[in-house]
Amino acid sequence: MQKGKIGVTTENIFPVIKKFLYSDNDIFLREMISNAVDATQKLKVLASAGDYKAELGDTTVRVSVDKKNKTITISDHGLGMTKEEIDKYINQIAFSSAEEFIEKYKDDVNTIIGRFGLGFYSSFMVSDKVEIITKSYLNDAKAVRWECDGNPDFFIEEIEKDKVGTDIILHIDDDSKEFLEENKINELLNKYCKFLPVEIAFGKKKDYKDGKEVETDKDNIINDTKPAWTKKPAELKEEDYNKFYHQLYPLIFEDPLFNIHLNVDYPFHLTGILYFPHIKNNIDIQKNKIQLYSNQVFVTDSVEDIVPDFLTLLHGVIDSPDIPLNVSRSFLQNDSNVKKISSHITKKVADRLNEIFKKDRTEFEKKWNDLKLFIEYGILSNEKFYERAKDFTLLKNIDNKCFTFDEYKNIIKDNQTDKDGNLVYLYATKSDEQFSFIENAKTKGYDVLLMDGQLDVHFINYLEQKFEKSHFVRVDSDVVDKLIPKEQVNESKLTVEQQNKMRPVFRSRLNNKEVFSVIFENMDENEAPVIITQSEFMRRMKDMSAMNQMNFYGNLPDNYNLVVNTNHRLIVKIAEDIDKKNDSKLNKFDEELIPIKEEHTKLEEQNKDKKDEEIKQVDNDKISELQNKIDEINKNKEEILSNYGKKNKIVKQLIDLALISNNMLKGENMNLFVKRSVDLIK
Ligand code: ADP
Ligand code: MG
Repeated sequence: MQKGKIGVTTENIFPVIKKFLYSDNDIFLREMISNAVDATQKLKVLASAGDYKAELGDTTVRVSVDKKNKTITISDHGLGMTKEEIDKYINQIAFSSAEEFIEKYKDDVNTIIGRFGLGFYSSFMVSDKVEIITKSYLNDAKAVRWECDGNPDFFIEEIEKDKVGTDIILHIDDDSKEFLEENKINELLNKYCKFLPVEIAFGKKKDYKDGKEVETDKDNIINDTKPAWTKKPAELKEEDYNKFYHQLYPLIFEDPLFNIHLNVDYPFHLTGILYFPHIKNNIDIQKNKIQLYSNQVFVTDSVEDIVPDFLTLLHGVIDSPDIPLNVSRSFLQNDSNVKKISSHITKKVADRLNEIFKKDRTEFEKKWNDLKLFIEYGILSNEKFYERAKDFTLLKNIDNKCFTFDEYKNIIKDNQTDKDGNLVYLYATKSDEQFSFIENAKTKGYDVLLMDGQLDVHFINYLEQKFEKSHFVRVDSDVVDKLIPKEQVNESKLTVEQQNKMRPVFRSRLNNKEVFSVIFENMDENEAPVIITQSEFMRRMKDMSAMNQMNFYGNLPDNYNLVVNTNHRLIVKIAEDIDKKNDSKLNKFDEELIPIKEEHTKLEEQNKDKKDEEIKQVDNDKISELQNKIDEINKNKEEILSNYGKKNKIVKQLIDLALISNNMLKGENMNLFVKRSVDLIK
């Protein structure tokens, strides 16, 4: 038996390891098992090269838990270690200025482990004593037992051992008893070791006999040594890919849309399979993440630093031996290979989408609803992706037809170019609520896109910046003639005076006066008498701010226009009725107004070139007195019109019909409308 000191400059690294690495302590099992797997694979290589002549036999790595003795043992039939190798690989850990370093990186366990190759020493996070019993494959090697109890002091002795290979025995400390539970070990194996390339056995397979659980003599193998991504694409069928998908995500029942098999040799090694899941219209919660492996050992499922944000919507695995097991955030953010991986994957994803689009457009269109959000997200977040995706990104219209950007432009360019040469893309966000507007646009021969996706508000803004001389306008943002302003202008059948009289009449019947402006448009006589529109600009501001939660515009009330069609027969009739019923009263006020207005204008005229301080106080007082009179009289006029309006059932009926077209008439008001309608029919 020999004693020695582990080669560290700091007196005692183990308390440090325990203290700072405790939070992620479950990686110890991954570290032990991946060492065992490495050793096994090395022996296999030696055997096939003829450097190891004995029979290889069973190479299964075995994990066992002895609850009574509080140990976990990991046994392998790998190449083993000689006494000298233990000294070299285990005892001499280069650990200069450890405390300083650990202090600096204490929040980043992986940096610490990765930096010092502390894989093996992670065992001390859960053990108060660790033993290595190992026999090297070399011919005359003596088996040795190494033991260390958490001090830099270790013991090493020669022992008898038949088989080549290594047993690592962890004596679990009292704080880590949870790891002596079978369930806990199963959980860790399932997390980290599911796809290791060498068979890992944990206990024996269980069977049911006479209603009782019994152990069989078959090993309980916990891993799939040849996961799909390690195979060649030619060996795999669609079903195989789907089967693997469900193996990865047992809780998802739907098959993925399609997959991308990654296989890169240069400038870095990378394999993997990415899947397009059914995203639908929701990017909020992403529970099933892409998993990152290093030589089939699970590293992490936080891949945010490896793939661009939008690709985290995908599922699947990425395996790169160039990414160290103990990968740290800072490593990922700074490593140039990782950056290349990121842009490579982006390119592959775009290529694959393009390939499917070209090969089977019908299929692509069928899957568009699921792809749309993903592609839009990619375009919005990644300039390069826009360049790659712009030829297969689709716009879907209200009739479910799909077009590429170029195709769509060609379709609308003749009929939807306005008088200034801008291309106007019309869109709807809710086909039922905006139905009458959509129909109106269609009668004009316009095409209407359906932009009802979660990101469409942003996407529309983005496309407007990308497309030249183009803008997007929602169908209900204006009367149809004004959606795409053309040269010809309709005449109005109402005079300006009639319009001014009609405004208070309509206002008097609005329930929500603050929200509406009454405006007049010279529409076609066959269009609706009254419609409700919402300004594109204001609505978009509100939409955007609601999404950004910056609540500035979000707090603004909605803003609608009640648009009166000056050419509709009913409106003309109402105007005539207003004149007939009110003119005699109004005229009286108008006559009163004439001299007041005259005087007012005269005074204003006299003073118009003077500065404020040069105007005489008397003049000023007079002007405001006259103005007050004018306001007063106008108010009286308005009241007359208002009172008239309150009795006019047709006006109310027309407003309600417009509200109904926009799906805005609800509850009691709807009920009143129905009653009024019956009255009007009687
Ligand atoms: P790494 O695996 O990154 O080299 P570790 O601390 O995990 O670092 O292991 C240090 C070294 O100890 C390994 O490189 C290997 O030479 C040796 N080793 C550890 N476990 C085993 C094992 N089960 N069989 C053979 N050698 C081992
Ligand atoms: Mg290791």
